[in-house]
Amino acid sequence: MAEDLLLPLLGYRDGNSKEEDDARIQQATSVHSDISYDQSLPAQHTYLGTDLDELSGRTVLEDDVILNLPLLSLPGVVLIPGQTLPLHLFQPPTVAMVKNIIDHDRTFGMVNSRYLGPNYMPSLAPIGTTAEIRSYKEEIEERSGLCTIRVKAEGRQRFQIIDTRRQSDGILLGQVKILSDIVLRDALEGARSQSMLRFLKHPPREKSVSLDHDGHEFVLKNKLSKAKYDRLRPAHFTWWPPWVYKQYDQEILMSRIKQELIGWNNALKLDSMPRLASEFSFWVAANLPLDDTLRLNILAIDSPIQRLRCELSILEKCTALCCRDCDVEITDKTDVFSMSIEGPQSIYVNPGGYVHETLTVHKVRSVRVQGESSTEYSWFPGFAWSIVHCRSCGNHLGWKFTATDKNLKPDKFWGLCRSSLHPGIKNDNTGGDDWAPCI
Ligand SMILES: [Zn+2]
Repeated sequence: MAEDLLLPLLGYRDGNSKEEDDARIQQATSVHSDISYDQSLPAQHTYLGTDLDELSGRTVLEDDVILNLPLLSLPGVVLIPGQTLPLHLFQPPTVAMVKNIIDHDRTFGMVNSRYLGPNYMPSLAPIGTTAEIRSYKEEIEERSGLCTIRVKAEGRQRFQIIDTRRQSDGILLGQVKILSDIVLRDALEGARSQSMLRFLKHPPREKSVSLDHDGHEFVLKNKLSKAKYDRLRPAHFTWWPPWVYKQYDQEILMSRIKQELIGWNNALKLDSMPRLASEFSFWVAANLPLDDTLRLNILAIDSPIQRLRCELSILEKCTALCCRDCDVEITDKTDVFSMSIEGPQSIYVNPGGYVHETLTVHKVRSVRVQGESSTEYSWFPGFAWSIVHCRSCGNHLGWKFTATDKNLKPDKFWGLCRSSLHPGIKNDNTGGDDWAPCI
């Protein structure tokens, strides 16, 4: 009896728990997705060649340290920590820079550049991400005798640009500050009565345990062991009700984002997503088809919780993806799916060295396919590509990929450039084909 009365004080509840939410997510992800393709192939970037030299070891830069980094700026690329960045470089100063980087700590800074203002002056973003080279191949072109280099790098740490200067060889050097994530303590830690903790024990191997904010698991002793732990219940001892804390709880935010993504498409591989809040928030940022400004805003956020809140807000508001230039709807968010184990959106590079961040979708509308299909340099081995334009304005949107083997599933899909799209929400007041930018 006394133990029953203590249950609410200890934060135990009978209703739906995060475990039940997770079980629902698990059930949804187990729905059969009609893909027979080996989704690890696109992540290997085999079109760059299979002869790249692997580099071992990792470089971790200290938080808040200020240092000089060679910078590489590309329009349309906002690198997110954890993303793979393939590059094919031709310009002699850039090739020389990368060779020098490989001989040292293998790290350079990746910064987005844009043309702003009435005169379209080139402008560097104030925030960037370090990229660490993981493998490379250097070769001499027979005709020109020029040295080119193919590189696979990985986004690692965020940084803020303090100052930049261009060297005599044309290389851009930046003085940058490495940014750290601000991880907040459990807001309800002080509301949990220490005297009540003696009723708790560290868990045995039972399935009914729950995780608290710090990842500690708790269950009640003996006959109450089936009760579930609600870490928001101590909010009743504070000025604010549980729903306030719920908005800033990273586990709940991650769970809500996963449910939202399931609503997009149940073929998305939720089980391959990172488990830690910081890494998960970067994974979501890398896979949301946001424009450069929105993505830079997310990259500038120092708190994983705030990052998750921002991403959840975007996910809840957006219903479709529209052409950047004419706003016509191109695809619905429910058509987004993963052809790669890295997620629905990844960075690829074409033979000319142009980098495209590409989102894979099942269906599109208002597009025009141009020219013959080709398997040359295909980012998705086993699929031939054709160029796709917006039917309304002619903007280059991406590619149609068609399976060369009739047994391959899906038999076709579409790869859309992130830089050619913007997320949109339907404007119910007009009732027509009017789409407004999200946020
Ligand atoms: Zn268009």
